[in-house]
Amino acid sequence: MRAWGSVGHYLQGPGIIDHAARYANLFGTRHLFVVDAFVQHMLGDSLFSEYGDLGGSSYDLVTFEGEISRGSVERVRREAGAGHDVIVAVGGGKVIDVAKMLAADGAALVVCPTIAATDAPTSAMSILYSDEGEMNDIVIHVKNPDLVLVDTRVIANAPVRFLSAGIGDALSTYYEGVSNERTGHANYVWCDTESGVATLAGRAVARACVETLFRDGPAAVRANAARTVTPALENVVEANVLLSGIGFENVGCSLAHGLGNAMTVVSNGERSMHGERVGFSTLSLLIAEDYPSEEIERAAHLCVDCGVPVTFEELRLDPSSDDLEKIARAALEAESWGASPVHLDVREVVDVLLATDALGRRMRGAEGAPTR
Ligand SMILES: [Zn+2]
Repeated sequence: MRAWGSVGHYLQGPGIIDHAARYANLFGTRHLFVVDAFVQHMLGDSLFSEYGDLGGSSYDLVTFEGEISRGSVERVRREAGAGHDVIVAVGGGKVIDVAKMLAADGAALVVCPTIAATDAPTSAMSILYSDEGEMNDIVIHVKNPDLVLVDTRVIANAPVRFLSAGIGDALSTYYEGVSNERTGHANYVWCDTESGVATLAGRAVARACVETLFRDGPAAVRANAARTVTPALENVVEANVLLSGIGFENVGCSLAHGLGNAMTVVSNGERSMHGERVGFSTLSLLIAEDYPSEEIERAAHLCVDCGVPVTFEELRLDPSSDDLEKIARAALEAESWGASPVHLDVREVVDVLLATDALGRRMRGAEGAPTR
């Protein structure tokens, strides 16, 4: 069976977040805003300035910070109270995942990401952590968000590191899709008890994603560093948020996510961002799955040019051989690893990690220090 899932509507442009209330009003009249505590401080009451013109519509606000776990979702649910017909998430991946859990009760979901660091905003997936911070639960919801509003002015004003991490995450999408295609592995589109594989539409989205990064990635990073909104930035924000988001769900993850997520089992593993680990691990995928050298180096050049980590040092890791084995074992146990056509043992995975770091150090040596 082929399966396709997608966000309902997607709007992107500078200043659009100012109209979040008006857009939320298209879906219902009792709104709950779940806002990242830092973002709430930054935006102040501007999110709510349109309510005077929205007739009888009303809103409640809860702020969120910290890790998302079943416990913290319940805390937000209690604080927010019942009866909301629209949930509006404003912030990064964790706030968005909390809002998805709340909207699973039947409310409409509007998502306003304030960084382009991951592909969480458009997907139907929530990632929950244990109270100790380990990733331990992936929830696939019946529906994707109804509307995603991406304000590129807000994203241009955020630190470049977030956009770079999003590029790392987005870079994996196409190559992981190819792994899945080779093995016929199931994608992440909700289809009850069945499982499906990628449609032609899903594969086309993944290809558009990688092509956009190669075309516009470095220019977008420069635009972000200068806090400017340019067509290149708009293109890469769309690649990081929309193409990568519906891409990964529709074509599936594999070795890059298996390895990137496994890095959190060693100390310091959490000091890098998800997309940074996945970007590095995409080079590992290309090495492990025996891509031609030119293709591996092309991807590595892109990472260097976009500030995506290519060495252990840039990932803030200084792994001992024990650490490398721990990462390898955790990666081999990951569900996503099973989508890759290569079968490796622990020693071979360690070799792939070391080869990736050596490639990265060589690239950095040739191209100088990272730009961020
Ligand atoms: Zn990811």
